[in-house]
Amino acid sequence: MQRLKGQSALVTGSSSGIGKAMALAMAREGANVVINFHSNESSAQQIVEEITSEGGNAIAIGADVSKEADVKRMFGRMFEAFGTIDILVNNAGLQKDASFVDMTLDDWEKVIGINLTGQFLCAREAAKEFIRRGVVEGRSVAAGKIICISSVHEVIPWAGHVNYAASKGGVMLLMKSIAQELAPYKIRVNSIAPGAIKTPINRSAWADPESEKKLLELIPYGRVGVPEDIANAAVWLASDDSDYVHGETLVIDGGMTLYPGFVGNG
Ligand code: NAD
Repeated sequence: MQRLKGQSALVTGSSSGIGKAMALAMAREGANVVINFHSNESSAQQIVEEITSEGGNAIAIGADVSKEADVKRMFGRMFEAFGTIDILVNNAGLQKDASFVDMTLDDWEKVIGINLTGQFLCAREAAKEFIRRGVVEGRSVAAGKIICISSVHEVIPWAGHVNYAASKGGVMLLMKSIAQELAPYKIRVNSIAPGAIKTPINRSAWADPESEKKLLELIPYGRVGVPEDIANAAVWLASDDSDYVHGETLVIDGGMTLYPGFVGNG
């Protein structure tokens, strides 16, 4: 069963980690996929080859999601290749950690620029095309789907990472506000908030057994997540199986947001 057959998906920042897993999973469900990369073109090309060797359809497009001209160029290239867009996954993101008093304006602006402004720029371009084109019968009952990759830090404050937590808190209300505004056009907008997932962004938190043990204290379910945990949910959120799910954050965190510190009376 190919739940995204005939649809076209753009996954930002998909040359590694969660984005890569989501792009592969969507291609396996029949979607044409754009692998957006920032600097790692060879990794993006390898993912394209992996998808095409499995009989799928993918192209790699370089773009910095925090730059308006790059984003417009990326959408233009996608439309040349696939004609339109049905699914946007706003995944690109990064951390630039510092204690609050040592955080530079550059650290702040870089993270907000990619994690929040990048999601705004891509969602706006996708929404324009969804509205222009409308619902295509037989392809999906929605005119388009936007999935924002947020974080448990849209709700959990994070000392030493205030730029990151502020960007993800911003993504939550960006998502909900555009969900409210775009619903009449049959455009569905949701977020996924991952907990700790093993990817390059947080390697130091799980790379050695001691660090992983410490991290597991925060995860009631007793394992660190893997990118496929997020990819499986992203496919569902992009498909018509979730058609009545709108303006929601799906938290996928092995229970990290259950306040595990309160176990045993706190
Ligand atoms: P990752 O570092 O593997 O992926 C981030 C991707 O974003 C990279 O491919 C990177 O090249 C890309 N990127 C960075 N700046 C960019 C830019 N300016 N333009 C385009 N692409 C850019 O890490 P990941 O864990 O796969 O992160 C993916 C998303 O998941 C991020 O938004 C991150 O905040 C979120 N997230 C991750 C975790 C986790 O535990 N791994 C938890 C919560 C949320």
